[in-house]
Amino acid sequence: MLTRFAPSPTGELHLGHAYSAVLAHAAARAAGGAFHLRIDDIDGSRSREEYVAAALADLAWLGLDWDGEPLRQSARLGDYAAALGDLRDRRLVYPCFCTRADIAASLSAPHGPPSASGSSVYPGTCRHLSDAERERRIADEPHCWRLDTARAAAIAGDLVWEEAGPGARVADPRAHGDIVLARKDAPASYHLASTLDDAAMGVSHVVRGADLIAATDVHRLLQALLGLPTPLYRHHGLVCGPDGKRLAKRDAAASLASLRAAGVDGPALAAALGQHRLPTGYSLQSA
Ligand code: GLU
Repeated sequence: MLTRFAPSPTGELHLGHAYSAVLAHAAARAAGGAFHLRIDDIDGSRSREEYVAAALADLAWLGLDWDGEPLRQSARLGDYAAALGDLRDRRLVYPCFCTRADIAASLSAPHGPPSASGSSVYPGTCRHLSDAERERRIADEPHCWRLDTARAAAIAGDLVWEEAGPGARVADPRAHGDIVLARKDAPASYHLASTLDDAAMGVSHVVRGADLIAATDVHRLLQALLGLPTPLYRHHGLVCGPDGKRLAKRDAAASLASLRAAGVDGPALAAALGQHRLPTGYSLQSA
């Protein structure tokens, strides 16, 4: 059993992160397994070194020990590029030159594409470009790389993953449209980096918030395409603040740094979170 906690160093950790880290840590330790850290610092413009140090200090304050050195996504860019190159060679990804404004305009067109999930999915504009046009534009136009999701899903066939508790879930990656695998401003998207890293780290159980259940459909598809193992997943409930809304990085009062400054006992808080008990005013939105 190997679990991980993977903070993005773009802000301070809050109670929701603590809950996730505690559950992942407890799952590993209860089974005599390993608990690893990953620093999701692929977004160079938003990641800050001070938040990496703060996250490690917060986890230590909670009394959560981790195994080995934290893995840095910023050290794995070559691996992400290699996977993207593989998908490119198989014509499963294509360059997309659309701006946000282009996408918004085609989604609001009277006969804009219907979306399978009810949310906006990329309308597929650049999927239809000729090779010649791609070649002409790629040298000097900013572009991201998108997965040709329908083609990829057809190749992958039936996709199933296991949620701890309820059991098998059928993945429907088509509902997400042609997701971005490499961004204009970052060499890999969260989906590509996280899927590759979980496999490279040997993660057997992914413990993370229920807001990422939909992402798991995409990750399952990428695992199938890239020949990676599928971990077991546990998507836990989300911690909500006194206003009933799920915590975000801007909720300073719920940051672990403020709780620590207010004299909260870290290990006692971790023990309570491990029993799904939250400080007064906070609640769990079930998965
Ligand atoms: N860095 C991601 C986040 O903080 C990790 C998500 C995951 O656990 O896969 O949301």
